[in-house]
Amino acid sequence: MSGGHANCDRCGADLLGASVRYVARFELKQGYDAMEVSPQDLRRDLKGELRAVLRELEGLSDAEVREAEDATALAVYWDLCAACAKDVRAGMKREKGISGT
Ligand SMILES: [Zn+2]
Repeated sequence: MSGGHANCDRCGADLLGASVRYVARFELKQGYDAMEVSPQDLRRDLKGELRAVLRELEGLSDAEVREAEDATALAVYWDLCAACAKDVRAGMKREKGISGT
């Protein structure tokens, strides 16, 4: 077999023969609105930066601007075998301080 998501992205186990498989989605994106800046911030270094960005964006279409915004977010999908899913689940709970099963 070649291509596709036939293997666990963590340990490489063959998922084609597995009775169950898991998909983990990790997303990284801005946790705040980039335009949420105070007038104080605008008077500082950001002013020149914003002007440069605006100049850059002037020639862009709405779709192109949206594309630029999307570039700041990252989402990846992991195909996981049952064993790795269990490990990842436990790790996530540890990370977030969630107790129980
Ligand atoms: Zn695995």
